[in-house]
Amino acid sequence: MTDYSMLINGKSVGAKTSIEVLNPATEAVIATVPEASPAQLDEAVAAARQALLGWSGQSLEERRALILKIADRLEENIGELAQLLSEEQGKPIDGFAGLGAMFELGGSLAWIRYTASLDLPVEVIQDNDEARIEVHRKPVGVVGSITPWNYPLLITCWHIIPGLLAGCTVVAKPSEYTPLTVLKAMHLISDLLPPGVLNIVTGKGGLGAAISSHPDIDKIVFTGSTRTGKRIMEAAADNLKRLTLELGGNDAAIVLPDTNVAEAAGKIFATAMINNGQTCAALKRLYVHEDIYDEMCEALAGIAGSVKTGPASESPDFGPIQNKMQYDRVCELAESAKADGATFLTGGEPMPGPGYFFPVTIVKDIPESSRLVQEEPFGPILPVVSFSDVEDALEKANAVSVGLGGSVWSSDVAAAQKLASRLECGTAWVNNHAMIQPDAPFGGVKQSGVGVEFGRYGLVEYTNIQTLQISKS
Ligand code: NDP
Repeated sequence: MTDYSMLINGKSVGAKTSIEVLNPATEAVIATVPEASPAQLDEAVAAARQALLGWSGQSLEERRALILKIADRLEENIGELAQLLSEEQGKPIDGFAGLGAMFELGGSLAWIRYTASLDLPVEVIQDNDEARIEVHRKPVGVVGSITPWNYPLLITCWHIIPGLLAGCTVVAKPSEYTPLTVLKAMHLISDLLPPGVLNIVTGKGGLGAAISSHPDIDKIVFTGSTRTGKRIMEAAADNLKRLTLELGGNDAAIVLPDTNVAEAAGKIFATAMINNGQTCAALKRLYVHEDIYDEMCEALAGIAGSVKTGPASESPDFGPIQNKMQYDRVCELAESAKADGATFLTGGEPMPGPGYFFPVTIVKDIPESSRLVQEEPFGPILPVVSFSDVEDALEKANAVSVGLGGSVWSSDVAAAQKLASRLECGTAWVNNHAMIQPDAPFGGVKQSGVGVEFGRYGLVEYTNIQTLQISKS
């Protein structure tokens, strides 16, 4: 068992107390990480503040060069990092459709490299005899990042890389469930950055709250639940921190009657079960027109019946659910769907332990009011609901308080696009779902979040505008 360290002001740092990290496939303790004290958080924030002037004073070109070296260094260690990620998170190395730990590592590299290619050019609004007016982008300052346990390294890269490129310094807190890959990766790259530019602290049960209320942090970027996002917003009010909040969703997909079921079912399955369903923008409620409802249910059940859930040693398609809290929630929602009279085509019962294994579960004939339809399960369970009237399906898709993603499926792309534009969500897909890429902005509407990530739109969230007005008359 390894004892991991935090990274504060360029140094490896332990703490008086530590937190155990479990392998969710065995429930065995595999490592410990330090539990940061309030004083250690202050040290990390002070180091980030101290480093800010020097880091933001470097040219964007200099910062870009260092960020590209970060990607190279992680790539040199990709196998070891993927193995560690698989152990602590539960996702197989490759897994279903190759969307496992290696995919997360590959995605991290792609995001770092694309983000590093971005610029923050000065915009000239006016240049005439009266005045020249320029819009400059200044780094927002010290950024606090709080990341979840579903894609620990990828989401950390989403948070810290645009911040670093923009000239911000960072204090990042990985989830207490999955801190190891982030700690390992950030120690691997720490010598590439000046001390204090990137600090990693670990803890639980208060560290996140302490970060979000810290008076010397200027912005919080958080990925996680809507409930915690609201608490962060409250805590951030004291010094009016800037916020990027990427929160939960309960993404609906509407499948129109002209859809080719044989072609669509595989994609629908993959985008619902990506990362064992533990993906913010996974397809979570499937509304299928009654003409093709039985055919679609059968096709999905066929795929679900052919995949294997199990420990890494069995080269499975899917691993365990990442933690007991989430596993209990999936079990609870499955039970409530049973009580609501739903039909389970596959799965529905937790698998024998140890480990938080739950089989891929397809549920049909479920009432709209069932908790499994109304609440985000964040696990390998998909409710399939029949509809006869498209307007009714659209109304149901939009009748939730969240709006991260949504999709429409049809062989008539123009009709699907028209309907997709009426979905109340941050990203609407046609004939796909959950597809994200580093250059396309991604974020939620309603209670799915504030702001966007990725590409130029995401990068500018790590900046404040300074308007420079030079009078000429
Ligand atoms: P949470 O959203 O509650 O996030 C937990 C993290 O937030 C921890 O790092 C915790 O740190 C921190 N935190 C808790 N309270 C506060 C606070 N008041 N201020 C700042 N930070 C705080 O996630 P859970 O793991 O509990 O998952 C709950 C649900 O969230 C899941 O069921 C799923 O629906 C959703 N989820 C969504 C994700 C996404 O990608 N959008 C990812 C993961 C989960 P500390 O304990 O140190 O305070």
